[in-house]
Amino acid sequence: MTKYFRSNVDAMASYVPGEQPPRGTKIIKLNSNENPYPPSPAALEVLRNIDGEWLRRYPEPFGGEFRQAASKVLGVPSDWIIVGNGSDEILSIIIRACTEPGRKVVYPMPTYVLYRTLVEMQAADILEISYPEDYSLPLKELIAADGSVTFIASPNSPSGHVVPNEDLRKLASQLSGILVIDEAYVDFTESSALDLVHEYENVIIIRTLSKGYSLAGLRLGFGIANPKLLDGLFKVKDSYNIDAIACAVATAAITDQAYKNSCVAKIKASRNQLASDLKKLGFLVWDSQTNFLLVQPHQGNAEYLYQKLKEQKILIRYFKQPRLDDKLRITIGTDEQNQTLVEALTDLLATKH
Ligand code: PMP
Repeated sequence: MTKYFRSNVDAMASYVPGEQPPRGTKIIKLNSNENPYPPSPAALEVLRNIDGEWLRRYPEPFGGEFRQAASKVLGVPSDWIIVGNGSDEILSIIIRACTEPGRKVVYPMPTYVLYRTLVEMQAADILEISYPEDYSLPLKELIAADGSVTFIASPNSPSGHVVPNEDLRKLASQLSGILVIDEAYVDFTESSALDLVHEYENVIIIRTLSKGYSLAGLRLGFGIANPKLLDGLFKVKDSYNIDAIACAVATAAITDQAYKNSCVAKIKASRNQLASDLKKLGFLVWDSQTNFLLVQPHQGNAEYLYQKLKEQKILIRYFKQPRLDDKLRITIGTDEQNQTLVEALTDLLATKH
């Protein structure tokens, strides 16, 4: 089949998401940073009342209804918002619009694995800069690299740390290319870099409804940036990239801030409990401002624990990657799910292997 593909596509590895077993499989799924609670009742009510007429017609091309609602919630004008089929699509649009062979994309590692896949698809150059052990931002190296696109996930996955806004400001002001601040997990933090879009026209903030709003299956994400930047991105997006159902349901979900905030509060409390339980079991646990924990078993048996939990139908994430091969990433579930996980780990650690 080789002759059909561009050489970079032939050479690239596929992006491997966390396992997604078929619906109905009885598992505890703590591997994709999904929200353990259902979406907003108001969003589900909209879903139940979808009018067939909406489906007969093409959707509004820019997700206008959602942009209006997000504009009110975020306090930014609606024409500063680009809506996509998940935030993954916004990342892909940025890469397609801003890179080509010979242009460089730069990001600190370890981070979201999809960045690499998107750049490889485009045959652009990649410079991965290692985070130091304390996960402080390698500012000097990132500025010196001056990528056409620089990605910073904040909070980062899988480390769970937030990058301080003063570092992001230094970066934005020194780069000649675009600074993408991926805030997929921002709902679980106290801070955001949203203000930077008003200060720097090369900054785009990425958000999603997949995490805090519990709508990973709906596929709706968005970017916030100066309209000058968005103009170029709009040229590249598919004509009808957000379907009418996703747009209507997401509009109801983002409007229902009280429900989202109540889920987030429960998840944060559970996160603290799970972190403390895992520390008692001897795990090293990184501070997290997200809905997941990066942990390291002191026996150095991360892959073994991942496999054994999988046999017991508990899915967590193990990355076969430098810096991560002795670690596990665990999504915060309900208290009951977390408790089952802790009990399973307690038993596994007690058995000789
Ligand atoms: N950015 C980061 C850092 C993520 O972890 C994820 C979730 N896998 C995404 C973006 C994509 O989220 P979605 O496409 O579901 O909006």
